[in-house]
Amino acid sequence: MVRLSQDAIDTAGLESAEKGALEREVACQLLRSSDEVLPALLASAQRVRTRFKPGVVTYSRKVFIPLTTLCRDYCGYCTFRKDPGEPGAHTMTPDEVIEVVRAGERLGCTEALFSLGDRPELLFPEMRGTLQHLGYKSTLQYLEAMCSLVLRESSLLPHPNPGLMSWEWLRRLARVSPSMGLMLETTSSRLLARGAAHDNAPDKDPAKRLRVIEDAGRHKIPFTTGILIGIGETIEERIDTLVAIRGLHEKYGHIQEVIIQNFRAKTGTPMANCPEPDRADMLRTLAVARLMMPEMNIQAPPNLSDAHYADLLDGGINDWGGVSPLTPDFINPEKPWPHVDELRKRTEAKGFQLKQRLPVYPEFVEQAAAHSAQLSQRLETARDPEGYAQRAA
Ligand code: SF4
Repeated sequence: MVRLSQDAIDTAGLESAEKGALEREVACQLLRSSDEVLPALLASAQRVRTRFKPGVVTYSRKVFIPLTTLCRDYCGYCTFRKDPGEPGAHTMTPDEVIEVVRAGERLGCTEALFSLGDRPELLFPEMRGTLQHLGYKSTLQYLEAMCSLVLRESSLLPHPNPGLMSWEWLRRLARVSPSMGLMLETTSSRLLARGAAHDNAPDKDPAKRLRVIEDAGRHKIPFTTGILIGIGETIEERIDTLVAIRGLHEKYGHIQEVIIQNFRAKTGTPMANCPEPDRADMLRTLAVARLMMPEMNIQAPPNLSDAHYADLLDGGINDWGGVSPLTPDFINPEKPWPHVDELRKRTEAKGFQLKQRLPVYPEFVEQAAAHSAQLSQRLETARDPEGYAQRAA
């Protein structure tokens, strides 16, 4: 771990910070640093990224499958979730799932990203009725069946994001999906208070989410998580969230990527008028995350950072996450993904090769394959010798 003295945020201080993973106090100090320090901080993060994965930036070519838009939580920034009967409230049928997956196959996609509301059947009798009609007892059971269908019937690999899961459900889903995810978002339980971002969102209790991520680690499941910045957290709370993620990875070695996502204010939500993190805040956070986690994959979504998204590479990220040539970002429908050719052009203009990965990162393929013979066989045909996507488009 590296310490900086209070007045050592200069080039020499940053160079010494690169020699080991930053400790909490230094990370807070850097996140508070002025715009004058930003170029040196970014240069530092870039040197660390180069040592980790030189010359390559990855993305996953995916289709987005919003299995159900019903959700029992009411996060203050979310436009994805719906109550039964609201416009856009929908649970996809197996035929609808397979139709999207087939279209994705034709466009060279290798990931079926399942995003869905958190256990809506606990709150809505309508969802219990839908599940009964489809022949399932719970949303997670239906999700498992759909992941299995995708694995059996297509060349795509599922990556589910279903919210909180028990130990048993993690184990079951890991047999039919090489990786899965749960955004930690924040470790601040302060944001559960009345009027805050996670007011009326019981599944955003940080202790419950940390438990899921830790259980995934015990099961050796390649896991995606991350932070959501600008939702009312303090600088210390933002860093504490990264420290928690890093700590779990140090203990279990299962966190395949850390997403740094910036809050975007959406019309019609309780947080519609809240300020969004600016470009400098985002870049500073990316760079500090890179210095804190020198050997972890760090991702930032290109569609949430306006026309100048390629500048996010300056913060030391090495992945763009899932990008779809077919389906919109249902979580942020007003922010379309860039065209993959454009993404490639901009990535190359920054001096990197853009490579298509599977939903599971190359270095985690073996760990994923250990969960079932079916997965192992599917991964063998989906990966190239280095573990990237075989049918890269
Ligand atoms: S962010 Fe997720 S958990 Fe929160 S309301 Fe939206 S769908 Fe539900």
